[in-house]
This record gives sequence, structure tokens and C-alpha cells, in this order.
Amino acid sequence: MSGAVITTVLPASPEAVAAAAQALADGEPVVIPTETVYGLAADAVDAVAVARVFAAKDRPADDPLIVHVSPGLLARTGADDRLAALVALGLVSPALEAACARTALALLEGCWPGPLTVVLPRGPAVPDAVTSGLPAVALRMPEHPVALAVIDAAGRALVAPSANRFGRISPTHADAARAELDGRVRLIVDGGACRVGVESTVVRVHADGSLGLLRPGAITPEQLTGRVGSAVTRVGSEAGRAASPGRTPSHYAPRTPLVVTSTPPSAWSDARIADLRARLSHGRLGWLAGSDALRPSTTLRDALGAPDVVEALLASDGRASTAARHLYATLRSLDEAGPDVIVACVDAQDDGLAEALTDRLTRASHGTRPLPP
Ligand code: AMP
Ligand code: MG
Repeated sequence: MSGAVITTVLPASPEAVAAAAQALADGEPVVIPTETVYGLAADAVDAVAVARVFAAKDRPADDPLIVHVSPGLLARTGADDRLAALVALGLVSPALEAACARTALALLEGCWPGPLTVVLPRGPAVPDAVTSGLPAVALRMPEHPVALAVIDAAGRALVAPSANRFGRISPTHADAARAELDGRVRLIVDGGACRVGVESTVVRVHADGSLGLLRPGAITPEQLTGRVGSAVTRVGSEAGRAASPGRTPSHYAPRTPLVVTSTPPSAWSDARIADLRARLSHGRLGWLAGSDALRPSTTLRDALGAPDVVEALLASDGRASTAARHLYATLRSLDEAGPDVIVACVDAQDDGLAEALTDRLTRASHGTRPLPP
């Protein structure tokens, strides 16, 4: 479908929201901003619209989508609480175990709207394509005013996977969404830069009310424990792949090989410097510095044979949340500069985002031989 349609970018406004709602009612996917990353939205209970999202993204059918709702949409059901409203919309099963329902309600009332996706037994309105045939559905209420306005105006729940082609870097600006989906989607609503910058935390609520962390994000396991009173189990990679099939080891990846380290350049071994030097076949190095102290020193540049260095600073304050906010746009711009290799030298001060930042960097670097110690 590449090149088949003209892509229009509209700044967020009541008119843009109305245009998005109309397109969604017509079964047409549109790109909308959320506080995590830009999403490619479509009517979550329309299997044809959902199929268009998979096609536009080149997304494999075994990678399930998150369903997005708003306070307004839930209120319209007249249900007593958020869980009952999701059941009334046919999104969640009416037959939850009591402990599961209790935990779920605590999360929905305590952490929504926000960057938390909750996985619950699915209801009858959810098409198979949304969950990739799984018995559970992933649900989120975003915190972005434009996303919420679009859901309200459309009057329907929306799937909204990141607005990029499969496996690539998620867009955190409208320009990046356009670079990914130009000619594949008619409308992009531009709501500026995303505040969080990495995808939502994904948590599964088990029948006994316990929680399994499927993907780290801005809502931390500690915050979840604070809400529900029980520990959160991190679901390991094997079990995690079965429970959450989209969690592929390679994801969010630039085209350029990426290596990750937390060691400041001043402490690099000779073997490591020689290894990196050997990778600079065109003499061009991309460098992503987690803070000022982790920029490439003159000594290192000289030892590398004075390559052309394309540099970007992720966080001038050295904090993980700042680094996460800038990660994808920075990776994208370094990638476009066409270096031989990108070094991500990051040791961010943890303010809740460090686990998510490390997870995304690890997946972005999958398949590239790591630097020697
Ligand atoms: P995104 O690509 O950011 O839209 O996130 C979608 C991811 O959420 C998927 O790749 C899965 O890891 C997870 N997910 C979505 N739906 C489900 C589900 N029904 N059960 C478990 N994980 C899910
Ligand atoms: Mg994605």
C-alpha cells in the first residue's frame, strides 16, 4: 500500500480531532499522539480497521494490540466503576475471579489515566486479531489530552500500537511518525513531543490477583505494589514470550548496529578501543551520551583514529526519565547520519525509568556483537 495515499499532518485542534474521529468511524486508521509514543489508532472492535493497522505497520499477526479507552467513553456506559464499564463495553470478561477483579480495579482507579497497560481476560467484543487469539486483552487509558479527545469524539475504544513499521524505532514526534508511515496513512494529528518517550508498562493480572510484569515502563513495579499490596513478578524471557508474544528480543532498532555500555570512555580497555576502531570502516562513529560525563573524550577520539563523530546528548541532567524522553528521536537522528556503528554510553540516574531505558537499549542492540570488556 506504500505511496497509495497522501498523508496529511494536522496540528492538534478541535478540527483535527473531529477529522480523526470521522476517519476512525469510516474504519480508517489515523496517527495520534499519546504521552508514551505516537500511536496508529483504529476502532478496536472493527476487525477490518484492525487489519488495516497490521498492514500499515507490516506487523506480524502474532503481535497483539493494546486497546485504549477514555474516562468519557467509560462514563457513557453508566457503569459503577471502571472495571464494570470495561465489562459493559464487552472488552473485559464478565467472569473475573474476585481476587483478579479486586486487583484490576485498584490499578484502573489508581494508575489510569497513565502509561500503564493492564492485561485481563478478554470480553466478547474484542476481535481475535486484536489479541492474536489470546484469551486476554491489553487495555490502557492514556493521559494525553489529544488522545483522550479523539477517543471521546470517536465514541469508541481504539487500538493504537506505535506508529512505526514493525521492529523499528517508535515515533515520539509527528515528523518521525510521518517518516515511518508516509503514504500508508491519511491523517497524522501532531500533538508535539511525547512526555514519557517509551512505551507503557504492561502488567498481567492473574486469577489470584497477583501481578506479572510483561514490559517495563514509566509505572514501576514498586508503584504497582504500592497500589495493590502484593509483589510484582517479572516474567522471564521464555515465559514472557508466551504470555506476551510481541516481546521480541530485537525491537525498537535503528538500521545502524548499536552497542551499549555504561563504562565512561576514560576507563575503556585497549582491547575495547581496538575492537571499536576495527568497526569504523568508513571512519564515522555515532555516539549517544547518557550525560555530559559520558561523551567521547579527545583521548578516546585520538585512540580511535580521529573518526568523524556524530554525537547526541540524551540527558543533560543525567536522569533516566530525561534519557527515555529523548531516546527514540536521538537514535533516529543518529541513524540518519549513517555512521558505521552507534555507541550508547549510558549510566542514567534512576528516577523510575532506568529499567525501561535499559530494556529498550538492550532490544535496540540485539544482534550486534557487544563491545569486549
Ligand atoms: P505496542 O507495540 O506498544 O502497541 O505494545 C503491544 C505489546 O503489548 C505487545 O507487543 C505485547 O507485548 C503486549 N500485549 C498486547 N496485548 C497483549 C495480550 N493480550 N496479552 C499479553 N500481552 C499483550
Ligand atoms: Mg511498537
